[in-house]
Amino acid sequence: MKPMKPLPFDMAQACRDVEDRLVHRLPLSLLERAIYYHLLRHSHLDGRRRLPLSMARLGRTARVSGAAARIAVHSLAQKGALRVVAVSKRGHLLELRLPRQILDARGPAEPPAPDLETLNFFEERALRWAIHRREGGRCFYCRRKLTARNRMLDHVQPQALLRRARRGALRMHSYRNLVSCCPACNYAKREKPAATFLRKLYRSGHLDREEFSERLRALRLLARGKLRPVL
Ligand SMILES: [Zn+2]
Repeated sequence: MKPMKPLPFDMAQACRDVEDRLVHRLPLSLLERAIYYHLLRHSHLDGRRRLPLSMARLGRTARVSGAAARIAVHSLAQKGALRVVAVSKRGHLLELRLPRQILDARGPAEPPAPDLETLNFFEERALRWAIHRREGGRCFYCRRKLTARNRMLDHVQPQALLRRARRGALRMHSYRNLVSCCPACNYAKREKPAATFLRKLYRSGHLDREEFSERLRALRLLARGKLRPVL
């Protein structure tokens, strides 16, 4: 029995690198991922770095058109996953890079995005600005236009209530409990629940029916963490 030829590289590790890191870092579409695996199988796993390939044939393998395969190959080249060495009538000559080589060339990963749920949006200027930006320059309550000089942050759930609650400080200054508003609303609302205050604005004609419903909806989305400020 002929001894099995040793693998020129660790395919299992390469798959782990693709799935755990590469697809997110580049990122790779499903088609690009399928084509990358196909090329990996027929280049490095067979002990060769360069692979001659016709785009029509590659397309048939991936069950897409030759044009779609060509676009995916060029996208992989742009992302640094492979190099197009030559193009001729017979097809492309491709040089595939291993996942580790691609990741090393791209340098260290960017630090993970901060967890919004743990941030105190009241303490830092940049975070306070993020709340103002989220409201798009309008008072969260009355929809009046705001300027940088007449805007304030309001605690939707009154501070007095939250101060006594468990993890009160965090909830109090969370992006889920802070909104950008005008000084008049900030002063008039005081310790009232936000829904009660919005109803007051509706009854006094500051909000029409549609605006009132829309604001109540925004209030619910805010509490559910759906109105995430962009940092
Ligand atoms: Zn207002």
